Amino acid sequence: MASFSSTPEWDKAISAIAESSNVLLLAHVTPDADALGSALGLGLALQSMGKEVQVTVGEVGFTTPSSLNFLPGTDLICTPENLRPADLVISCDVSSDARLGSVKSILEAAPASIAIDHHPSFTGFGKIHLVDPKAAATAEIVLELIDRLEVPITLDIASAIYSGLTTDTGSFKYQSTTSHTLRTAARLLEAGVDSANLSRLLFDNEPLAALVMMGEAVSRATLVPEAAAGKGLVYTSVSIEQRPGLDELAVERVIEALRKTSEAEVAAVLKQADDGHWKVSLRSKTTVDVGSLANQLGGGGHKYASGYSSKGDLNQTISELINSLNKASNH
Ligand code: MN
Repeated sequence: MASFSSTPEWDKAISAIAESSNVLLLAHVTPDADALGSALGLGLALQSMGKEVQVTVGEVGFTTPSSLNFLPGTDLICTPENLRPADLVISCDVSSDARLGSVKSILEAAPASIAIDHHPSFTGFGKIHLVDPKAAATAEIVLELIDRLEVPITLDIASAIYSGLTTDTGSFKYQSTTSHTLRTAARLLEAGVDSANLSRLLFDNEPLAALVMMGEAVSRATLVPEAAAGKGLVYTSVSIEQRPGLDELAVERVIEALRKTSEAEVAAVLKQADDGHWKVSLRSKTTVDVGSLANQLGGGGHKYASGYSSKGDLNQTISELINSLNKASNH
């Protein structure tokens, strides 16, 4: 069995949990299924140990996005302005304290805090670190924690964990998928997880307006064959006007279509956030490390999947991206 993190950190985390009675779990802003599934799966496990549990995301007035509403345990979710005091705060899948949003100060002021994460770019906030970039998903580390707490895996816990695992591995097809990941998935299926149903809800469930927006975004795609030392870049952009009636999260999926482009090692989607600034999602296939590239531009992520926020307008963002890619690929 793979062991994520180190023995002293596990011991510290187990004691901090044993000593706590009110636990607050935090997923990163604009949460995905790994962040929210990890927080909810761990929340349900802690609740079964008799803890009082709250789950939140540091966005004022946060409500669960409809695309993740099927996750078990969403009744644990509170808005960040209505939290009761907690004696232990646990962040899930949050790589930097900026990604904590409005609840950063709550984690900093907490008597005890644990950060659970698998991003190589994890910046080191929180007192106890269950952090391992070898984990395919934060959910994989959370499952080891639940096992170490000796909490039985219910169907709800298993479904929340499975959602994180299958999302972050792209249905078990990305490089991060190991034999341990597949054994973990098998174990979760044995706990009763309905993989076909969860996969459909996670990957194959888009309103028609979102599919039309994606189709238009793909039709605007530009191929830059000479970028990344000739390995190629394909990019597109989606402004606020180009996603009528759709939230920022709907645009997250555009990269899943674009990254299939055979002529490009790197795919990028430039997404205009509700506040007007541009966010960039990056994917690479085999050689370009888009994680360190995003790091240099103030963001973070993994080797083959990352993102950052740009300070410039659309054209400045495109040229900054191409310049950084060329610099990174010439090393
Ligand atoms: Mn993750």
